[in-house]
Amino acid sequence: MILFGNNKGLTKSIEKGDFHCPNCDSVQSFDLKSVRRYVTLYEIPVIPREQLGEYVECLVCLDTYKPIILEPKVNLSQKEFKAEYHAAIKEVMIRMMIADGEVKNAEVKMMQTIYEKVTKNSIQADQLRRDIIQVKSSTDNLSTSLLRLQGNLNDLGKEFVIRAAFYVAMADGDFGESEQEYLGNIGNDLGMTPAHFQGVIATA
Ligand SMILES: [Zn+2]
Repeated sequence: MILFGNNKGLTKSIEKGDFHCPNCDSVQSFDLKSVRRYVTLYEIPVIPREQLGEYVECLVCLDTYKPIILEPKVNLSQKEFKAEYHAAIKEVMIRMMIADGEVKNAEVKMMQTIYEKVTKNSIQADQLRRDIIQVKSSTDNLSTSLLRLQGNLNDLGKEFVIRAAFYVAMADGDFGESEQEYLGNIGNDLGMTPAHFQGVIATA
C-alpha cells in the first residue's frame, strides 16, 4: 500500500531583515516565514499544496506578527507608535461614547479616568472635548486607524484598546447589543480571534 497524506504544514523562511519589534520595543532581526501544506508520501512532503499563510517572527523574543508590520508606513518608531496607540484608544472611546448621542460632562470625566488608567498618561478635559468634536466631524472611519495599528500592536496592546472601549460601553451600566456588535468589530479590525476577544471581555 502506498501511504499518501496531505496534512503536513511546512514552514519556510522567505525573507530576513530588521524591523521594529513592538514586544522588544527596539529594532531586531526578523524572519518572514510562509507555511504551505504538502502532500506527503510515507511521511515525506513531496507535492506542495496551498499556501496556509505568512508570518513575521522576531528572532530575539520569538513573538510573531502579521506581515503588514514590515510595510514601511506601519513600521512606526516607538514614539510614533505610542502616539498612534494612545490616539486609537481615545478614538475608540469617543466613538463608543457618541454612538448613543450627546456627550455629557460626567462622561468626559469618565473618559479621562479610563484614558489615564489604560495609557498611564493624563489628558485634559478641554483637549478631550476638542478631540470629540474632531471625531464627530471626521469622515474617516475607525477601521482605517485600527488596521494601521494592528501590525504594530501585540496582544496586550489590543487588549488595552478593547478594555478601554468596554469600560466606556459599560459606563451607563448596560452592555447593549449594538455596543457588543461595535466592540466585536473593533476586535476584528485589530485582528483578534473571537476567542481572544471573548476572553478579554470576560476578564474586563
Ligand atoms: Zn522581539
